[in-house]
Amino acid sequence: MDIKIYNTMSRSKETFKPLENGRVGFYQCGPTVYWTQHLGNMRAVVLADLIVRSLRYAGYDVTFARNYTDVGHMTSDEDTGEDKMEKGVKREGLSPSEIANKYVAVYEQDVTDLNTLSPDFKPRATENIDGIIEMTQTLLDKGYAYTTPLAVYFDVSKAKDYTRLSRQKMEDTIKGAGGGEVEDPDKRHSADFALWIFKAGKHKNALQFWTSPFRSPLVSGGEGFPGWHIECSVMSKKHLGATLDIHMGGIEHIPVHHTNEIAQSESANDAPYVNYWIHNEHLLVNNAKMSKSEGTSYSLAEVKEKRYNLLALRYFFLQAHYRSKQNFTWEALDAAQKGLDNLYKQISILGSKKGAVNEEFKKEFVEALADDFNTPKALALVSKLFKSDIANADKLATILDFDKVFGLKIKEVAQEMSQEKDIPEEIQNLVTERETARQNKDWAESDKLRDEILVKGYEVLDTQTGPKIVKK
Ligand code: AMP
Ligand code: ZN
Repeated sequence: MDIKIYNTMSRSKETFKPLENGRVGFYQCGPTVYWTQHLGNMRAVVLADLIVRSLRYAGYDVTFARNYTDVGHMTSDEDTGEDKMEKGVKREGLSPSEIANKYVAVYEQDVTDLNTLSPDFKPRATENIDGIIEMTQTLLDKGYAYTTPLAVYFDVSKAKDYTRLSRQKMEDTIKGAGGGEVEDPDKRHSADFALWIFKAGKHKNALQFWTSPFRSPLVSGGEGFPGWHIECSVMSKKHLGATLDIHMGGIEHIPVHHTNEIAQSESANDAPYVNYWIHNEHLLVNNAKMSKSEGTSYSLAEVKEKRYNLLALRYFFLQAHYRSKQNFTWEALDAAQKGLDNLYKQISILGSKKGAVNEEFKKEFVEALADDFNTPKALALVSKLFKSDIANADKLATILDFDKVFGLKIKEVAQEMSQEKDIPEEIQNLVTERETARQNKDWAESDKLRDEILVKGYEVLDTQTGPKIVKK
């Protein structure tokens, strides 16, 4: 079946045709690793995961790349403001690479807890400086870029149809960008953006810098660091080629970051950059984007502290289409947790025998996903499936098949539940008592019960999907 994707470039749903039959190159802009990512960032990661899983479910061989930005990203996407990595350094008294390593590790743990599939490539900007210098040099050689004492800039007036992704008027963009903050008097247009920033001017004390072939009277050896936008152009090309099938990112990236990626890549490579642009909407708090700077962000650690199953958050994200805004409240997460618990409970009464995938349900499932990845519609099929009169074994097989996309660990839960059927009632009761103690944060009682269970020859493991009992 054809998959329809809403392409931001055409503002319409298009039939997906990959460059190479059966294969997809997929790139997602990754996090700037200077701080813990919030639930809004996590929504973006889960939404990309759902799309990658849907494409794989549909039979495509997807190569998925997502970068780590560990240099060059300012607090404003237009190169103004403070350097994000340096902000992390000041906050914690660590070096830039220690900050990056720390937050890459936090991120990796978070996205694993959300059961997202690891990308095939996870390049770091600092490991791609040579490629960045090379593309910048190409842009200079071809006349798309120019050098000032402070930076090498891309000249947006030279790009072919610079604003075609955002559909802004070129005059507005050139006048409007940069927040009116003139930081370099030699910059030709305010929308020109930095490819390479010299270790000079306000960046003279930059902590991360490399030598380069670019020249400024203010530094020796062209010392400096890359601009944020060029990083994605270089890393996506390295792993997926000059033309990508799909590029995904948050909607805020349309007017600046992705517009600049197109300008650089197409000018340097003489090839179309991206065939399908996918942009996800934001997670909101009180009707505004969840944001660290606004003080409206929550982390996954807080969700864990409140003792939610993290997959309840995944279930919550599944309930809204990627192009819809989604409002976060703790009540909404409670409801998602109940929905997930209920799903697991329904699975437990299906028995452990696996039959055949029901073709009619599968057809509806595929249709929902093929319509611009409509996961809420696909998820709604689950309750319809439970209510239907098809055999339990077939229900189980069908839902396990759907879970290749949902990623709610239904197979593990089904297995655990069937194993637990063989556990003596006495042990089950002790485990329930221990769970109650844990919920009441009575750790002493909970540890006591764990020991009691151990003495009787069983062990309780606290897993993401709840306590699991194993015979010793
Ligand atoms: P940043 O670390 O700020 O560059 O953001 C990393 C990713 O998270 C980007 O792809 C953003 O689009 C995304 N993002 C940031 N805030 C939100 C939000 N409230 N909802 C959804 N995605 C977000
Ligand atoms: Zn990017």
